[in-house]
Amino acid sequence: MKLTMLGTGHAMVTECYNTCFALQDEGKYFLIDCGGGNGILRQLKRAGIPVTDIRDLFITHRHVDHMTGFVWILRSFLAGFRSGRLEGELRVYGHDEVMHIADRMASYFFTEQEYDVFKERVKLIEVHDGESFEIIGHKVTFFDIQSNKAKQFGFRIMLDDERWLTCLGDEAYHDCCEKYVLDAEWLMHEAFCLSTGNIRFDPKEKYHSTVADACAAAEELGVHNLILYHTEDSDLPGRKQAYTAEGRTVFSGRLYVPDDLETIVLE
Ligand SMILES: [Zn+2]
Repeated sequence: MKLTMLGTGHAMVTECYNTCFALQDEGKYFLIDCGGGNGILRQLKRAGIPVTDIRDLFITHRHVDHMTGFVWILRSFLAGFRSGRLEGELRVYGHDEVMHIADRMASYFFTEQEYDVFKERVKLIEVHDGESFEIIGHKVTFFDIQSNKAKQFGFRIMLDDERWLTCLGDEAYHDCCEKYVLDAEWLMHEAFCLSTGNIRFDPKEKYHSTVADACAAAEELGVHNLILYHTEDSDLPGRKQAYTAEGRTVFSGRLYVPDDLETIVLE
């Protein structure tokens, strides 16, 4: 399985795209979050992922930096479905709040005819805490991260019988997620800024972490490979090096600080 970061920034970044990514296996795509806008189409194009090849999509929570890009994905699909160019369906996974908003977006932003097509061809699949589905040929379990800001779900995807990747969305690790994170082969954890950015960026105020916080949590939980994302963008050219240097002081596994459009092979 391959992971392509389509965006790696927090909500208000201007130098990169909002955090979202695609998992890819045997020509099938699973998109996680959509970023905040039309930029999702550019990022997918640059990544060589045809938007309508994505048939499974998960939205972690209702914040605009994760959800409003969905309008553009939807627009691509509805145009394709209506013209007869596209077959099959689009499956959208999310908790009740996300499903409600996704439905409202479709009804507010598109014509009545398009909304009819949406109801017929876009499957809104409401997920509950601890519930599992088969997606792109892998078992995926969604779970409530018990966010302090807005109801948010993360997920675990099995890579094989013994190894998995867990994504904690855009909030610092909570103890309630321990069973999904402990001994994970791969963990995706937000890291808003370096420790030295504590005063300037105040990550705690938004329930975000510094690089050192995220790495310390991963170290304690026996994570093997850690991917940091959802960061500030004040020094993107220097981000990989600076974040990696800080993280290495507390995390002994393999540490990844990907740039937008970087692909990681999940071995
Ligand atoms: Zn966010």
